[in-house]
Amino acid sequence: MARLFIIGCGGVARVAIAKCCQNSEVFDEIMIASRTVSKCEALAEELRPTTKTVITTAQVDADNVEELTALIREYAPVAVLNVALPYQDLTIMDACLAAGVHYIDTANYEPEDTDDPTWRAIYEKRCKELGFSAYFDYSWQWAYQEKFEKAGLTALCGTGFDPGVTSVFTAYALKHYFDEIHTIDILDCNGGDHGYPFATNFNPEINLREVSAPGSYWENGKWIETEPMAIKREYDFPEVGEKDMYLLHHEEIESLAKNIPGVKRIRFFMTFGQSYLTHMKCLENVGMLSTTPIHFEGKEIVPIQFLKALLPDPASLGPRTVGKTNIGCIFTGIKDGKEKTLYIYNVCDHQECYKEVGSQAISYTTGVPAMIGSMMVVKGLWNKPGVFTVEEFDPDPYMEALNRWGLPWVVDENPQLVP
Ligand code: NDP
Repeated sequence: MARLFIIGCGGVARVAIAKCCQNSEVFDEIMIASRTVSKCEALAEELRPTTKTVITTAQVDADNVEELTALIREYAPVAVLNVALPYQDLTIMDACLAAGVHYIDTANYEPEDTDDPTWRAIYEKRCKELGFSAYFDYSWQWAYQEKFEKAGLTALCGTGFDPGVTSVFTAYALKHYFDEIHTIDILDCNGGDHGYPFATNFNPEINLREVSAPGSYWENGKWIETEPMAIKREYDFPEVGEKDMYLLHHEEIESLAKNIPGVKRIRFFMTFGQSYLTHMKCLENVGMLSTTPIHFEGKEIVPIQFLKALLPDPASLGPRTVGKTNIGCIFTGIKDGKEKTLYIYNVCDHQECYKEVGSQAISYTTGVPAMIGSMMVVKGLWNKPGVFTVEEFDPDPYMEALNRWGLPWVVDENPQLVP
């Protein structure tokens, strides 16, 4: 039995919280703390009649370390699950250290203000040294290694689907199917349709920043960066069908390159329809994806935040999204001296997710692993002092939990490969 402190009450949080409430044997008490407390209260009221888990709510600004630390100390949880935004990763890690509790998240650190000169100087140095220009990277959180080690606390980074399950699939493939993995292709396919001309499936600001950035992949020990959407492939996804997919930079490439010995190439592909890409290019061309504030009628506004206010709330897509997602990894490598290929994937149905927890599959496929990662930490199955990504732990209990908690996976030993 454990007490979990959950920060954020958006699309992903809703699923993680619903899943904790289904799992009252492990999570007997949870705190939902977020910026807008009315959302926490509404969700708590909805879930209380369905669960034995005791739910408390609070208002918190997770950018404020002191305020957050005081609230965590008062509630005294075993761990904090951060399902707010990547902007809050470092302040929440600081608060966890101050309060002496474990830390869990689903996305690596990214600054809210990319024009901040101190951050920018470090970023530009990193771009030159490492060769990829994404705003997010693990260096900020890996820098907490010694602090978490000394405190005897675990920081588990990236327990969503991608990053998260995709990295656990990799650890599982390495443990059970390969002596050496040589290539990893991570394939993220959303075959769902929400009926709007344009909407994003999770936080628009984070989502649009990610997909409008240059692509990159890891090959022979270094990063290779491409123009945004420059590499396109077609793939026939099991249970979804033929889709166009594009190479993107993605955060798990960075940690897998570090943690999977002998890996020669890691790529990440995501499916997009032509209409989504045309809308995004147009918004980008007119400056609507910019994070730099502008003055408008005597007020300062950030274009991408204004756009977020115009777009449908991702949490509202649940009832209208139909179709399936298919997310997984294709591996090639060596087993017992012979070449081997393997595909591990999960298929998730948007409407099934909505019936179960009132969310579409993108939030579901992230929220379920957020609960599972938290369970691994609070049960002591995945406890090591320091800062870790999910592939650094034994994948077996996590893989078992995926089957039990709604994300069953399939192993295909003869998959179609990506050229
Ligand atoms: P949402 O925008 O729907 O929710 C974010 C929540 O965080 C909101 O409740 C928001 O409050 C709250 N919040 C924001 N700032 C603060 C703050 N300073 N203090 C307290 N609470 C705050 O985002 P999503 O649910 O779509 O995404 C959540 C996380 O999941 C993100 O980090 C995202 O990158 C990650 N993610 C990971 C994936 C993976 O597979 N690994 C896939 C998809 C998402 P308010 O209601 O007031 O706005």
